[in-house]
Amino acid sequence: MIKNIVIVGGGTAGWMTASALARHLPEACDITLVESEQIAKVGVGEATIPVIRQFNAALGIDEKEFMSRTNATFKLGIRFENWARKGDAYNHAFGFFGRPINDISFHHFWLSINQSEKDAWIHDFNVPSVASDLNRYAHRQYNDEQMGSRYFYAFQFDAHLYADYLSEWAQQKGVTRKEGIVNEVSTNPENGFITGLTLDNGEVISGDLFIDCSGFRGLLINQTLGIDFLDWSHWLPCNRAWAVSSAYPSRDAEIPPYTRAKALTAGWQWRIPLQNRTGDGNVFSNNFISEDEGLSQLLENIEGDAINEPRLLKFTTGKRDKLWHKNCVAIGLSGGFLEPLESTSIALIQGAIMLLLKHFPDNNFDPIREQEFNRRMTQKYEESRDFLILHYHATERDDTEFWNYCRTMSVPDEVKFRIELFKKTGFVSHNQSDLFIEHNWLAVLFGQRIIPENYDPRIERFASQEIKELLQVMKQETRDAVTAMPIHNETLKNYCAGDLISNFEQAKR
Ligand SMILES: Cc1cc2nc3c(=O)[nH]c(=O)nc-3n(C[C@H](O)[C@H](O)[C@H](O)COP(=O)(O)OP(=O)(O)OC[C@H]3O[C@@H](n4cnc5c(N)ncnc54)[C@H](O)[C@@H]3O)c2cc1C
Repeated sequence: MIKNIVIVGGGTAGWMTASALARHLPEACDITLVESEQIAKVGVGEATIPVIRQFNAALGIDEKEFMSRTNATFKLGIRFENWARKGDAYNHAFGFFGRPINDISFHHFWLSINQSEKDAWIHDFNVPSVASDLNRYAHRQYNDEQMGSRYFYAFQFDAHLYADYLSEWAQQKGVTRKEGIVNEVSTNPENGFITGLTLDNGEVISGDLFIDCSGFRGLLINQTLGIDFLDWSHWLPCNRAWAVSSAYPSRDAEIPPYTRAKALTAGWQWRIPLQNRTGDGNVFSNNFISEDEGLSQLLENIEGDAINEPRLLKFTTGKRDKLWHKNCVAIGLSGGFLEPLESTSIALIQGAIMLLLKHFPDNNFDPIREQEFNRRMTQKYEESRDFLILHYHATERDDTEFWNYCRTMSVPDEVKFRIELFKKTGFVSHNQSDLFIEHNWLAVLFGQRIIPENYDPRIERFASQEIKELLQVMKQETRDAVTAMPIHNETLKNYCAGDLISNFEQAKR
């Protein structure tokens, strides 16, 4: 039985890991987390995807309290602007398109209607997409039976406050926090396992299992154990981000229930609305524009006044060859980073924690557990990477060198296959365990203007008039469901944000 677990790093990854281990492992395990106030966290991970709710629920976190402590808003998806063509806009919303009939996905029915006879775009049958367009949000739990409740939600929150919140939670559950810089890492000369850490104050912390949550530097997995990084930047070339926070223009400004991703000349700009401010950032490649140009673009595209100094973050998209090696597991940025276009990082942290718990080692460290963990994590990273590549590659844009590169670059075979399959048949290939499943791929494939040539052959059993009538009903049901929703600000105020106004005043200061 593993007794002593040591986590290095107190960013989102470190505190999520500490909380989950404290919640799920036997009380006899000692969990120590080392962090240093002198080494800044990244802390810009503000947008999430719906799986985070399972993580919070498993900890038993009260959603209203968590939302008000982290200035969180509800997120129904991401609005992509200028991606396939300049002037385009579509939502990747967390919900289904229409309703399946006889086990046939709705979009096949929509595809079967002649282009000239279609009176609605596919996204008009997606409740969270239409709700996003109108800034509406109703706090409904998913219900497969009701058209108006076939959607999921996630959050947009202040990542620093989330780490603080979990830090408090984990320490209440018995996690020991140590403040200090890890200066030295010792290993067993016989088997290379990590044995302990020495802090700058001379304290030595020994352990059985070490979790590396030290961020991009990968203090244990890379600097100590020498595990290489697989660089994927030839497929995802963005490698810089300028991040800043900006104020809402007024107390009653509408807070959208979505993250905005607006494509620019050499990357894209995010706008993430929180209760009291927005988080903004320009993600770009410095092979195509300079850092100064990246900063100017960011400031030109923010809507309110900047309320702090813009911060430059440098990164390379990719992952470690192995996230688990000997008695060290890398979770968070130390294990890999996919640029934030689809808000996957926190979900990958969660995925790694859940897999580690499932394959939790004993002191024998049977390599089969390590192998399975690494195999599954590689799948998760690659599936998410492929989904991101789709956004860049399936574009018609030829107005800048960056977009020409993305449009014409060679992509992994799996991406080619998925695009080709959809184009030729209308079917989406995915596994149920993927982070992104059919409706996620459909939103982006259609949004990037890929329209299939064919549809499910079983549709031929339906008369075209019958299909048109079904579509009319579903379009109306979608509209009715959204019309009945309050605006997002209203839901927030009533649910979790007694402090919306004072938070706003504070952010202004
Ligand atoms: C531009 C950008 C935008 C992003 N946007 C999103 C998003 O919208 N959604 C999302 O899910 N994710 C996003 N992410 C990713 C997200 O920020 C990270 O996944 C998340 O913050 C986890 O970071 P971390 O805890 O691994 O590392 P960090 O936040 O870097 O934390 C590292 C910790 O290690 C400690 N440390 C390091 N070295 C030592 C040492 N020697 N001794 C002691 N302590 C040490 C530091 O003090 C710190 O506490 C984004 C990332 C970037 C770069």
